[in-house]
Amino acid sequence: MFSKEKTVVEYTIEKCKSCNLERKRKFKDGDYLFLETLKCESCDGLVQIEKIFGETIDQ
Ligand SMILES: [Zn+2]
Repeated sequence: MFSKEKTVVEYTIEKCKSCNLERKRKFKDGDYLFLETLKCESCDGLVQIEKIFGETIDQ
């Protein structure tokens, strides 16, 4: 019998409201939906957290 360990990794999708550039990064403490994070690298627009989700990874 093998029991498979599964790990859930949480990711945050950030999206620029001006140019719609999306970036995926690891979730970190303090992230929540629609939080305004950084300035966009390409257009200097406002970047907002669009989505937070978990992915299950087989180990
Ligand atoms: Zn932008």
